[in-house]
Amino acid sequence: MDLQFFKSINGYKVGGIWYPRVTAICKIIGKPGLEKWFAKHGSVAAMTEKRRKIFDFGNLVHDTIEKMLMGEAPEVDPLISPSVDAFSHWLKAHKVKAFDVERRVVSNKHFYTGTLDVLTEIDGNFGVLDLKTTDRVWDDQFIQTAAYFQAHNEGDLRKAETHWILRIDQYQECSLCGAKKREKGGEPDIKEGDTTCPHKWSLAKGICELKEVNNHQIYLEMFLTAKKLWELVNRDLLSQIENYPKRLK
Ligand SMILES: [Zn+2]
Repeated sequence: MDLQFFKSINGYKVGGIWYPRVTAICKIIGKPGLEKWFAKHGSVAAMTEKRRKIFDFGNLVHDTIEKMLMGEAPEVDPLISPSVDAFSHWLKAHKVKAFDVERRVVSNKHFYTGTLDVLTEIDGNFGVLDLKTTDRVWDDQFIQTAAYFQAHNEGDLRKAETHWILRIDQYQECSLCGAKKREKGGEPDIKEGDTTCPHKWSLAKGICELKEVNNHQIYLEMFLTAKKLWELVNRDLLSQIENYPKRLK
């Protein structure tokens, strides 16, 4: 792989120095949920198209929710209104004060960079929040937030006390068999229930669920281990990068 291309997809420069990105490093970790899902959705072309639509859905939710957290009243696309309604309901039930969104953080101690979704206070705790539009909270999502938490706390800002995943999702439920259908663009994804059922779908319901990390140190350890593996896999390219820590050799 070309070094410039490698650098462009795996990181960016902060203060003139190239750092790898958290999300690029985390790609080294297998995603069992995603792989199962991709296997079910056939050809590479169809997979890419569906993936693109899902990313659009995720981006739309991210964009809308982040604006709302910062006190704006964005126009809500009807496609995501069940999700946004669930979020509004959650927001009313908690004391939430967001300070920043899409904030770039850098760890000089462990040498990486990334962009955290939201820096916020929730019911009196100050921390790092990541928004997800997945159909459940996967434990490995805390590996990413642990990396942002660490980088944030290396700065001389107000220290974060915790990190959370705020999962926002929507689905239709079959009143006959309980199957759940998610339509995030393209062909719907149907889970649970009875495959022989003719299905009678409800209107889309939104979900908004907050999950807090329960052992930060373990997830940070997982991130740093993933980073070591990522560095070993990419050692030939990384060794050509000026300023990249030379302990790889
Ligand atoms: Zn059904």
